[in-house]
Amino acid sequence: MCGIVGFVGNHQAAPILLDGLSKLEYRGYDSAGMAVRDGDGAIEVVKAKGRLKILAEKTNGGQALAGDCGIGHTRWATHGEPSTVNAHPQYTREKRVVLVHNGIIENYQEIKESLLKKGYTFASQTDTEVAAALLDSYYADAAKRGMEPRERALDAIRNMMIRVRGSYALGILFGDQPGAIYAARKDSPLILGRCDGEYQGYMIASDVPAVLNYTRNVVYIDNQEIACLTRDEL
Ligand code: GLU
Repeated sequence: MCGIVGFVGNHQAAPILLDGLSKLEYRGYDSAGMAVRDGDGAIEVVKAKGRLKILAEKTNGGQALAGDCGIGHTRWATHGEPSTVNAHPQYTREKRVVLVHNGIIENYQEIKESLLKKGYTFASQTDTEVAAALLDSYYADAAKRGMEPRERALDAIRNMMIRVRGSYALGILFGDQPGAIYAARKDSPLILGRCDGEYQGYMIASDVPAVLNYTRNVVYIDNQEIACLTRDEL
């Protein structure tokens, strides 16, 4: 248990992520983090051990993070102690893949060993960082096969879902796809919100209370489904 919130739309994302995560605090957590991107600028990641309040203070209530596309997370540690480095988002080199995850990747150890042989290195003790690196390697394979960015992302996520065992709700940013959030789930909850009032755009969240300040229009992602959200399109 813990929480995921993502937003892409017509408002600054970070304050929305913090507000949404605060509505998921009942689920329990030991650390929190956000990844936000301003246009096609670099993805900025801020993480903090402890209360959400610390993450809010670090980012001036989210105001310090510019950008209208982002993902946020509260973590309940299963693999690796509660710490800033183990907090999510987890990401690969040059932030090519940036990931938040609820759940457990059961076979992460064997996947980690094969990725180490391919030259991947790991900063955290989490199973989640292994999923990020696996996605990165499938994404690079798809690029070599000449796929377009959207197809490449879907192909990499599908391959990752086939390879990993366990449970997951995922929010994903790809470094070369500004303005897009990908989501997928298996045996962990995740919903989508379509915002078409003052707030325009799309959201992902672990539970309905996280989106209620922005929309009442909720779509459920089925088990083993993948979604791609941009400002105008789901
Ligand atoms: N297994 C992941 C970790 O320990 C995610 C835990 C969670 O659901 O918060 O980092």
